[in-house]
Amino acid sequence: MPYYYSPIAVLIWCEDCNWKSESYKNALAIAKIHAKKHGHKVSGELTIAFGYNFHQKAEEEKEERARPS
Ligand SMILES: [Zn+2]
Repeated sequence: MPYYYSPIAVLIWCEDCNWKSESYKNALAIAKIHAKKHGHKVSGELTIAFGYNFHQKAEEEKEERARPS
């Protein structure tokens, strides 16, 4: 896959009750559920890893150019 995008770290905290979470799977959903359920204010920081890798495509193009037509 030439592209990846994945959360690698998260900090979620509630400003009203000191609730915290470091679960980066569904971080936004978890934060929203807490805020909505308790009527609180939840903030968070999400660190995301992402990248593009087209090494394979470049190799294929090199091979195509080398092939006699
Ligand atoms: Zn709370």
